[in-house]
Amino acid sequence: MSARRPVVGGNFKCNGDFAFIKTHTEVLKTIPKNNVEVYVAPSAIHLKTLADNLKGTHIEVAAQNVYYEKPGAWTGELNVEMLLDCGLKTVIIGHSERRRIMGETNEQSAKKAARAISLGMTVAFCIGETLEERNAGKVDEVNFAQLEALRAVLKEADWKNVIIAYEPVWSIGTGVVASPEQAQEVHASIRKWLGEKVSKAVADATRIQYGGSVNAANCAALGKCPDIDGFLVGGASLKPEFVQIVTTLG
Ligand code: PEP
Repeated sequence: MSARRPVVGGNFKCNGDFAFIKTHTEVLKTIPKNNVEVYVAPSAIHLKTLADNLKGTHIEVAAQNVYYEKPGAWTGELNVEMLLDCGLKTVIIGHSERRRIMGETNEQSAKKAARAISLGMTVAFCIGETLEERNAGKVDEVNFAQLEALRAVLKEADWKNVIIAYEPVWSIGTGVVASPEQAQEVHASIRKWLGEKVSKAVADATRIQYGGSVNAANCAALGKCPDIDGFLVGGASLKPEFVQIVTTLG
């Protein structure tokens, strides 16, 4: 059993309306207070409502994205100050949908993370390879390049505000979950990379979540892997099943 506190995130993506946020609040409130840290990330428009609904509970509300610039003329963006003003402490950065669909580069993701961390936020930094990259034997190469961009803009002390979310792109929203062996292998490589490129202390302390088609049925086996410190959950976080996932890990 690792000393790292497990952490489970729920990424609602571009889903839900205010009626859903209201009913799902009641579901989230049933999550037992156990050893697991929990954050949920609704759309930007629902952030403040859900944060207010969950005030005083152990469930934290996180953003799905943020811009890397200070407040100013950046039409359509949200800055870190706005997230802090909503009472948020955590932000997901570099989700594969932002990287692959919105064209966010490794450097842009890293800049976003650095700015959020510089203002005291915790970042769930997503990395992961496509199926093509996996089949070409490039799993480490791709993940390490994404991590290297982050390493280049952080100081060692900043890593205490980083959660890494390993989310193989071929597994996100596909129903194809990585096997515990596949996930553990990559998590161990990421931890080894942290030890070599940052420090042993950071490697030991940094939590690495697995994300990709996690559900109540497959989470127990994944959760037993020594280098898996929790999950980032997409589809199942919109369902009562999310409560079971947290309970299973706790
Ligand atoms: C995600 O969006 O981060 C994710 C892992 O999605 P899903 O659980 O639906 O695969």
